[in-house]
Amino acid sequence: AGATGGSLLLRQQNRWSIEASALADDQDVRVLEGRPIEGGEGPLVALRVVDEVARRQEAVVIADATIDEDFMTDRYVVTVRPRSVLALPLINRGQVIGILYLENNLAAGVFSPDKLRLLELLSAQIAVSIENARLYERLERMNLTLEQQVADRTRELEQKTQALTERTEALRAANAELKRLATTDALTGISNRRGFLDVAAKELERAGRYRRSLSLFVIDIDHFKQINDGYGHSAGDDALRQVAETIKAQIRSTDYLARIGGEEFAVILPETDLDAAIYLAERIRAAVAAAEVVTGQYRFSLTISVGLAVIGPNDVTTDQMLARADQALYRAKGKGRNCVVAA
Ligand code: GH3
Ligand code: MG
Ligand code: MG
Repeated sequence: AGATGGSLLLRQQNRWSIEASALADDQDVRVLEGRPIEGGEGPLVALRVVDEVARRQEAVVIADATIDEDFMTDRYVVTVRPRSVLALPLINRGQVIGILYLENNLAAGVFSPDKLRLLELLSAQIAVSIENARLYERLERMNLTLEQQVADRTRELEQKTQALTERTEALRAANAELKRLATTDALTGISNRRGFLDVAAKELERAGRYRRSLSLFVIDIDHFKQINDGYGHSAGDDALRQVAETIKAQIRSTDYLARIGGEEFAVILPETDLDAAIYLAERIRAAVAAAEVVTGQYRFSLTISVGLAVIGPNDVTTDQMLARADQALYRAKGKGRNCVVAA
């Protein structure tokens, strides 16, 4: 276009920088990537021209800068002595975002009006390209930020889910332990009355529905008061623990043993008919009678009485079946204790 050199200047946050420059006798374009226009070795373009373009928002054409009153004292003009200068604003949305700066330091008046019109069209294209590049850059940055935020939020959610899972698990374990404690007898470690009633109700329902046999024992230690009186309460406690162990050793894993009162135990026996129940009750009675309770310096033996009931058509509730077993136990006590009576 008649220039000996040209530069592309960009303005960002009110600071001007040179993005690229080229000389006519040189094929290369030097990409300067934002070098400030006032470099260490003095200005790289006529700063007064830059100011003028930015202020007027239109092209500045100088026939000969070295004799132009407005520009001849500019530091760059004084040192480099450019003659013809043409500076075109790159305008985007009413803002001067850059300047296309051309000069010829050999001849004056080289930038004619028709060249100017051509360059004005070119500068409009450049302005759009720059704006596109900047928008793209901003979009990239926003995307990265968004991705980071999504990643952070995902990690946060994962941590919360993990914490919630742990708390739920801890709560479930605590609940299970609470239920176990609520249905366990502290003295003997076997089930208590409450645990027994839960299991008995389920077994009774199941046996009733599927017409299966089911037996129930109520076991009471004979003259237990005398043991407490004779050997002391803690010996009585030891006796209760050891009797529980002896009974447990005689029953199957599917049978359910519980301490339902002070010196009273009960066993629920699924799939057990009258004959099998009598046989097993007798075996338990004999085992307890044969065992020796060992506590402190004492050794003694004791006996139990067993009341036995087998599920019948009128046994709808556990209480009904327990009541029949209790009546049988009462009769066993009446018969002289240390025996088994079936309801
Ligand atoms: P029976 O043959 O008629 O059953 O006579 P018994 O003495 O066993 O009957 P009774 O119901 O009169 O006495 C039961 C005793 O069991 C009274 C009570 O002090 C004792 N006892 C109840 N719970 C415990 C306990 O946890 N530990 C101890 N050591 N004794 C208990
Ligand atoms: Mg009793
Ligand atoms: Mg008793």
